[in-house]
Amino acid sequence: MRKTLYIIGLSVFVFSCTSQQNVKKNTYKPKNPVAQPKPAVKPQTPETPKPQITNDHGVEFFTTNIADATKNDNTASYGSIVSAKPIGYKVVKTYFPAIAQNFRQKYLILHYTALPDDKSITVLTQQSVSAHYLVNNTGDNEIYQLVDENKRSYHAGVSSWRSDKNLNDTSIGIEIVNTGYASDSTGKKIFAPFSDDQVKKVAALAKDIIIRYQIPATNVLAHSDIAPTRKQDPGPMFPWKKLYDQYQIGMWYDETSKQNFFNTAQSDFAVRYSDASFIFLIQTAFQKFGYGLELSGKWDDTTKKTIEAFQYHFRPQNYDGIMDAETWAILQSLNQKYPTK
Ligand SMILES: [Zn+2]
Repeated sequence: MRKTLYIIGLSVFVFSCTSQQNVKKNTYKPKNPVAQPKPAVKPQTPETPKPQITNDHGVEFFTTNIADATKNDNTASYGSIVSAKPIGYKVVKTYFPAIAQNFRQKYLILHYTALPDDKSITVLTQQSVSAHYLVNNTGDNEIYQLVDENKRSYHAGVSSWRSDKNLNDTSIGIEIVNTGYASDSTGKKIFAPFSDDQVKKVAALAKDIIIRYQIPATNVLAHSDIAPTRKQDPGPMFPWKKLYDQYQIGMWYDETSKQNFFNTAQSDFAVRYSDASFIFLIQTAFQKFGYGLELSGKWDDTTKKTIEAFQYHFRPQNYDGIMDAETWAILQSLNQKYPTK
């Protein structure tokens, strides 16, 4: 076989086309896309000649460029193409970009560090945990990048959302410097607020990441959402509603829908609170929304922590971990607005 032949097996190409159910349809157009290398030959049109094809041992091979970058925005790599450099050979990136590809980065997970600035940096750079980005609380305009976006950082731990597990594999993690919570005399967790500067930084950073990787609203989550039995961060002081209202980041419910569910929810709670069938119904709704919750039919500790995590995110005025009519109404309105596909 000729050493310099740029080959792609036609038979392989045709076979790949039968697997397109996994291909994410992509309509996103970046505002300022990084200039893409122009194909050596224009995409095939009636006016342009067909790609040259040779036949080698009964198999057809393309020998000219068949790339059409206009059909594949995912080839936009924002300056981060990582390629092999085999000694004595040339890796060519521009000839055959495949349509069948998407980003590995499917989730954006927000955290607080539970530490002040200096200790946050030490822990996240020198120990066994990390995040892609660290948003400081020093009032400047800097955001620290600790890990390349194409690499895994160790921020999520044992985690799940919908059908996905171990979200370090598929997420970008943002740590926000915040001291977390202290428990009062009654055992209630009292959380520290986030400064406006930090919230603006987080919003700008999150927006940039969400747009570039086309991360859906359902996948912009708190650490406590994906690990509710272990984690509280970024906690109820983090302004998820503000991010949704002002920056269109993440999920939030519609007030009218919530009110409609609330009227029924109130009577449900008056008569059915302890019924196993009612608890199953609520646990199923949490599971459907995304939480990794076992269906026990009991108000057990895992369910309580899941309710608490949900309240941190969507009903931060009261995060006692006890299911009530308002929490139930919000959960149902979110499931209606963001159905599992
Ligand atoms: Zn965390």
